[in-house]
Amino acid sequence: MINLAYDREHIWHPYSCIPPPNAPLPVAATEGRHIILEDGRRLVDGMSSWWAAIHGYNHPELVLAVARQLKTMPHIMFGGLTHEPAVDLAEKLVTLSPVPLKKVFFADSGSVAVEVALKIALQYWMARRKPQKHIFLTVRNGYHGDTFGAMSVTDPDNGMHSLFAGVLPKHYFAPAPHMGFDLKLDEPADDIAALAAFLDHHHDEIAAIILEPIVQGAGGMRFYRPAYVRQLRAIADDYNVLLIFDEIATGFGRTGKLFACEWAGISPDIMTVGKALTGGMMTLAATLTTEEVAYTLCNNPPRALMHGPTFMANPTACAAANASIELLLKSAWQDRIQHIEAHLQEQLMPLSDHPGVADVRVLGAIGVIELERDDLAPRLQDMAVREGAWLRPFGRLFYTMPAFNIEDDELATLTGAMITAVKQVV
Ligand code: PLP
Repeated sequence: MINLAYDREHIWHPYSCIPPPNAPLPVAATEGRHIILEDGRRLVDGMSSWWAAIHGYNHPELVLAVARQLKTMPHIMFGGLTHEPAVDLAEKLVTLSPVPLKKVFFADSGSVAVEVALKIALQYWMARRKPQKHIFLTVRNGYHGDTFGAMSVTDPDNGMHSLFAGVLPKHYFAPAPHMGFDLKLDEPADDIAALAAFLDHHHDEIAAIILEPIVQGAGGMRFYRPAYVRQLRAIADDYNVLLIFDEIATGFGRTGKLFACEWAGISPDIMTVGKALTGGMMTLAATLTTEEVAYTLCNNPPRALMHGPTFMANPTACAAANASIELLLKSAWQDRIQHIEAHLQEQLMPLSDHPGVADVRVLGAIGVIELERDDLAPRLQDMAVREGAWLRPFGRLFYTMPAFNIEDDELATLTGAMITAVKQVV
């Protein structure tokens, strides 16, 4: 039995205190798309472990890949040494990523991949003898992680890191892109004009624009139009600033494209991936750059990217990522995403008219119910668990991002739980 009293007294859980206000549920095992609680209850996982376990849990191919790697070489330092899982993975990432991303840095979490992306941009401008370009431009409602650099480009007003606003490096926040995923909208609007106007005055000090393409995740589960991303690329080029896309939440199929920026048909100079990279098996992330960015950085003093974590390119994590990507590519993942999207639309959209519901939106394997009140999350979560679903609402948002191989009856349990919870709680 898990010693819950010990957990309560000694362990920090995410964004929580000790003891936490709501006791965590004790999990005995995972299986497919199910979380099996210690008391035997099975919950359909609507979160895919914070958007990472895209093949569900314990997938035999991932388990085998990890088991094999554990026998050969669980870990080895990456300084001065290399190994096949890392090289294979780099090749896969370079092949699959939007052209012309070609160079790969393996980080150990999404936040660290963002730190590395920011550092690369800073070192790039130092190498080009423009050290005054050291400020980042980003947008409201963005979220990029919990480490210092990542916090500094996360919207200070979204509540997650507002506490640190006074001590973080100061960067610029443009208005958030207007909400609404619409492929047809192509005319530049005032949101993109605001960015351009800002750069007109400040481009000399801006190293890069960083943002989550198409879907802003933890900062509001907001979807926006691909044209914004396309126009952003043009603006970044016009004003000679780098463009960093954070695809940590969106990468590997979640929105219906392998990478969300493919909706816009453009690519960034630097891109971060994580979460679903290993199918949720191990912690691993990566920062990719173009040849030009890497060349500039490597051909100027100090001729090195100044980062190198202990667990960089952990072979077991790389093996999991290789297996996960192979599994994704040989599955009919686009069909699966379309199928999930259709189900989420059919089931959740009717809630738009429910009193207390501000908005319902669906894109790919993401279904979001935005509420008018922001104090209902614990009750919604309890109700979902009673209905056999694991969901983790936050603020006004009640959403699901399930595994891509979720069965129809499991998906129905998820949406059924969301509907019941909204009808009873809101
Ligand atoms: N960037 C984005 C867009 C994210 O959604 C997250 C996590 O939710 C991160 C960065 C941070 O990743 P990690 O939690 O692996 O550090």
